[in-house]
Amino acid sequence: MTETLIKHADHIITMDDQRHALQGADILLRGGVVAAIGQNLKADGAAVFHAKGKIITPGLVNTHHHLYQTLTRAVPGAQDALLFGWLQRLYPIWAGFGPEEMFVSAQVGLAELALSGCTLTSDHLYLYPNGARLDDTIAAAEEIGLRFHATRGAMSIGESDGGLPPDALVENEEHILEDSIRVIDAFHDASAGAMVRVGVAPCSPFSVTRDLMRNAAILARDKGVMMHTHLAENDEDIAYSLEKFGCRPGQYAEDLGWTGADVWHAHCVKLDGREIDLFARSRTGVAHCPCSNCRLGSGIAPVRQMRDAGVPVGLGVDGSASNDIGNLVAEARQAMLLQRVQNGADAMSAGEALEIATRGGAQVLGRDDCGQIAVGKRADLAIWDAKVIENAGSWDPAALLLAGPMKVDALFVEGRQIVSEGQLTSVDLPKIIARQNTLARKLAEM
Ligand SMILES: [Zn+2]
Repeated sequence: MTETLIKHADHIITMDDQRHALQGADILLRGGVVAAIGQNLKADGAAVFHAKGKIITPGLVNTHHHLYQTLTRAVPGAQDALLFGWLQRLYPIWAGFGPEEMFVSAQVGLAELALSGCTLTSDHLYLYPNGARLDDTIAAAEEIGLRFHATRGAMSIGESDGGLPPDALVENEEHILEDSIRVIDAFHDASAGAMVRVGVAPCSPFSVTRDLMRNAAILARDKGVMMHTHLAENDEDIAYSLEKFGCRPGQYAEDLGWTGADVWHAHCVKLDGREIDLFARSRTGVAHCPCSNCRLGSGIAPVRQMRDAGVPVGLGVDGSASNDIGNLVAEARQAMLLQRVQNGADAMSAGEALEIATRGGAQVLGRDDCGQIAVGKRADLAIWDAKVIENAGSWDPAALLLAGPMKVDALFVEGRQIVSEGQLTSVDLPKIIARQNTLARKLAEM
């Protein structure tokens, strides 16, 4: 079994149950788990990582992304649009995607996340044009080496049925459910330490029917997998719900079985007090995506109120067509700043933002084996260099969120080092970027 001994870290922010913070301590990784934490650990034959001058945190957890969108960053015509207009600009471009676009764009998004300290990410893939499959993104995650929760998204109401997406991007609901079963059976690993899990994720209440929402929940619970969708993202979204369903999004979700500890909703910018109570009571999770909410002018999610009420909250960078950065530690910083805009400078500390980005996200994704550094938990660590310019002159490890760095020095996932000296060890990144840019140019010409 491979062992790595990480020696003499300046700071280890564990995010364990007691929120221990250690100085000058060591961590022993054995196989995929943390085997020991403490001073002067010994392990004959272990690989040694010298962590003097480093800050170690749990690997960050990303709870919402659309990896395929790394191919549509900063698209003209979608740069300044509100949500619905933004979607209508991008749908025809996304209709030109196929398996290669899905694979390469996922590699880029996953690499970007890894370099920003992320060890576990979910992805919400809800369109499957030209033979694309969820399998394409899972293959990309296996190459990069990130722990991956793929969700089988879906859209079924096309333009001709009064929906927003073009007909070419929607699928028949029977096929959606069949393919969901296929990918769960093929890839979902329920065991502790799983590198791949699969969830069920209709895109949003405005792109699928009530029937599909209900049947997806039944299927997910039958299979023991988690459920994910977009909810209450902005005012247009609330107005749509009131007009089409005669109720607010929280009520809609509850009526269709979309509340519970096995459900997490992206955004939730517009949840009201009653909906926050519903989510807290039912342990329904939220993927907070502050940069995307800023970019699309959606508003400031009531994260302070959610956290105070006991709603599980994690962070999401969201897709790269609406962020357009997939940097998770930068996202944590933005979450901290945005709560301060609304609620004052003491509304969210750097420590709380880091907690949301680590154990908060792990809880939202149903992973009590991740999101903290503790004996027996998975060996997922982000190691930050405190000697770089961004951190120079800092007095406290809170500088990681208040100042930087915004890129990791090293990253361990399941005990394997996938970033070393700020570079991915598993892939040739310049080659992937070149392939991505060729695909983007082709899409721009279509
Ligand atoms: Zn999204």
